[in-house]
Amino acid sequence: MKKLFVISGSSGVGKGTVIKEFLKKHPDYKLSVSCTTRKKREGETHGINYFFLTHDEFQECIKNNEFLEWAEFSGNLYGTKKSFVENCLKNNENIILEIDTKGALNVKKIMPEAILIFILPPSLEELEARLRGRHTETEEAIQKRLASIKLEFENSKKFDYTVVNDRVENAVSALEEILCK
Ligand code: 5GP
Repeated sequence: MKKLFVISGSSGVGKGTVIKEFLKKHPDYKLSVSCTTRKKREGETHGINYFFLTHDEFQECIKNNEFLEWAEFSGNLYGTKKSFVENCLKNNENIILEIDTKGALNVKKIMPEAILIFILPPSLEELEARLRGRHTETEEAIQKRLASIKLEFENSKKFDYTVVNDRVENAVSALEEILCK
């Protein structure tokens, strides 16, 4: 029986890098591509990083009941397509969702067998430095993201596992322990 893993972590914690490295070693795990109304960042591609939708398109998907879960994060909408998860389960594939903690807890309500993992930074100071180091967000966006960190930490107390991303290799090994056992 294949499993559904949900990985969350505050902005800038490096969860994208950890998941990318994990997938290089385990290409049979399927990462869901979410839909979002946020603006495309430099280097991002529609259909690979996200499906970038307009607000109206996103609302249409909500209306048609196409999302397994969706949430507002930092002023933008993000959602996981039901069809992706259903197809993977039909094809007997392990699934990874990289979503925020609110979304993760919603998935757990619908699918209690889902395994929730929260990626922690070595420290909060380090997290702020990483967020600023990306140079992808305005100061206002950074402030919004810092404010959401507190809520994310609160929500993460209900998660099944936490993994500290002090070094990418260590975090990938810790993920392997959870995902591949
Ligand atoms: P970013 O804008 O940095 O790509 O993502 C912002 C936040 O939205 C991250 O915490 C990310 O995990 C979360 N996120 C991405 N896709 C989804 C989704 O489909 N649903 C939910 N609930 N959160 C998502």
